[in-house]
Amino acid sequence: MHEYAMTKQIVRVINDAAAAHRAKKVRAAFLVVGENTGAIPDSMQMYFDMIARGTPAEGAVLNLRVVRTEMRCPACGINFRRPRFSFACPACGALGSPTDIGNECYVERVELEIDD
Ligand SMILES: [Zn+2]
Repeated sequence: MHEYAMTKQIVRVINDAAAAHRAKKVRAAFLVVGENTGAIPDSMQMYFDMIARGTPAEGAVLNLRVVRTEMRCPACGINFRRPRFSFACPACGALGSPTDIGNECYVERVELEIDD
C-alpha cells in the first residue's frame, strides 16, 4: 500500500506540471526512486496506470532511475553501498550509519504534449 500512496503522490505532481503548462497529455515521466522505498518498477507502472486513468497523465510511460542505498562510515568518512546482511564499512570495518541516499522519490522530468 506504501507504493500505492507513493504513486498517487507522483501522479499528482505530474498532473500539476501538465496543468501548469496547459498540456492535455503527458507522454512520459522520469522518476528518481531510492532502493529503500521498496518500489518495484513494474508494480509502480501498474498503480500509475490505475491512478492516472481519466487524467492528463493517463498513458504516460514511467522511466525509473533507481538509486542504490548508501551508508556512511563515521570512522573514515566514506560513503559505501551497503553490503548484503552487513553494515560494515568495506575500508575499515566500522559500523556505517544510514544516509538519505536511497530514500529518494521524486519526479525529475516530464514530457508533455502541448497543442498550439
Ligand atoms: Zn570506514
